[in-house]
Order: sequence, then structure tokens, then C-alpha cells
Amino acid sequence: MTQTILKISGLKVAYGGIQAVKGVSLEVKQGELVSLIGANGAGKTTTLKAVTGTQPIADGAVEYLGQPAKGKGAWELVNQGLVMVPEGRGTFTRMSITENLLMGAFTRKDKEIDADIDKVFGLFPRLKERRNQLAGTMSGGEQQMLAMGRALMARPKLLLLDEPSMGLSPIMVDKIFEVVNDIHQQGVTVLLVEQNASRALQLANRGYVMDSGEITMSGDAKELLNDPKVRAAYLGE
Ligand code: ATP
Repeated sequence: MTQTILKISGLKVAYGGIQAVKGVSLEVKQGELVSLIGANGAGKTTTLKAVTGTQPIADGAVEYLGQPAKGKGAWELVNQGLVMVPEGRGTFTRMSITENLLMGAFTRKDKEIDADIDKVFGLFPRLKERRNQLAGTMSGGEQQMLAMGRALMARPKLLLLDEPSMGLSPIMVDKIFEVVNDIHQQGVTVLLVEQNASRALQLANRGYVMDSGEITMSGDAKELLNDPKVRAAYLGE
């Protein structure tokens, strides 16, 4: 049987008195690319933050690799392969590209770090060309590439991507989705949060639609893509 990597059950998260996530359940199985789509403010980012332990869980449960994630520090989860690329990228602006990539491997003790940097440079030749440039001087798209490359340096078992296409030019959006697909094809399990519902569902095996803190639809990604309600609400038809 395929292993369940992430299982979220009845998750509730609040900011003060405001319930941002109201009982979300979803799962991601080994080898899947699952897309979580929904409008601005639906609670997608908050869901990811609860998974990584950066936002407290009010109720419900998050299991990663069959173990409760609650109570584990973000560092411990990264060490176990749960790696997030946050919205807004969060690169170390005063460090070079290579230094940023090395930071991604800080929990590792093996000797294959240089080989993995070469793999990242293979996925993103632009990063290789600019490897000595300070991250803060790169374009938004280049910083997104760097944030994804840095996450890969932690050898993720589950990669959480929060809106990787946000604010990028159409060419860069194409490039980013191409690489998300490559990363998935190389065997990494991915949970992709996106407002670009069309592109996210085209790449995914399965999808979940989130609205006002709740999952309103879920299923096979191609079926969701062809669903009239999804097309009307999220694909501008
Ligand atoms: P976006 O695509 O805009 O990031 P989202 O689906 O990821 O949207 P969230 O960022 O999770 O949505 O926000 C869900 C709700 O929680 C929103 O109403 C938002 O205003 C609120 N919220 C998010 N972060 C905070 C915070 N730090 N304090 C208070 N409210 C917050």
C-alpha cells in the first residue's frame, strides 16, 4: 500500500478570536503532487504553517510519516524531511546563492552536499551562472528558484510550496511550474498551495479547494479542472 506522508484531520487554527482554518482534513501520499487551491485569505498558508509547527493548532491533528507533528520543532521536522518554501521566499539576502544553498543543508552530516548543489544547478542553470551573487540582488523569479533549491538541499520527503508563482512574470511562472513538475518527477512528494488554480491542477494528481477556512471540494486533479463550479469560481469562466 502507498504510504501516507501527511495526514491532516479536523484541523482548526485561529488568530485571536478569528478562525482562519475551520476543520480541514486532507492527506498526501508518497509520490503524489497534491494542489491546494483557493482565493486570497482562504486559509491555505495558515494550514501549511500549522503543519510545520509555526502556527499553533487549536484543534485536530497533523501526522507526518505516521507520527504526530504537534510538539516537534520546525528544525526536527526539517531533519525528518518536511521542508517548506514560504510565500515571499525568505532567502538570506546578504548571502550568496551558494551560501544560501549550503544553509539548506545545515541539518545534514553526509558527504553528498556538493553533489546536491550540482543537482540544484542542473535544475536551475541561472543559479549556477550567478552562484557568487548576493541573493538580495536577484529578481523575484531568481529568488523563488533559490528558495526552491535551498529546500531541495534538505533532501525533502515532503516539499510544501506556498504560492511559488506569486508576483512573477509569465515566463518565470512557466519556468517555476516546469521545475515543480521536474522535482515531482524525480520522486519528491509535493503539496503545492497556489492561487493559479489552472496551472496547479494541471500538474497535480489530486486537488483540494479551500474557501473561508474549509475544504469545499476535493478529488482527482483533472476532474476538478473540468468541474464547472471550479472553472466558474477559480478559472474565471
Ligand atoms: P493568501 O493567498 O492571501 O496567502 P491564504 O489562503 O493563504 O491566502 P491565509 O494567509 O492563511 O490565507 O489567511 C487566512 C485568514 O487568516 C485571512 O483572513 C487572514 O487575514 C488571516 N490571517 C493570516 N495571518 C494572520 C495573522 N498573523 N494574524 C491575524 N490574522 C491572520
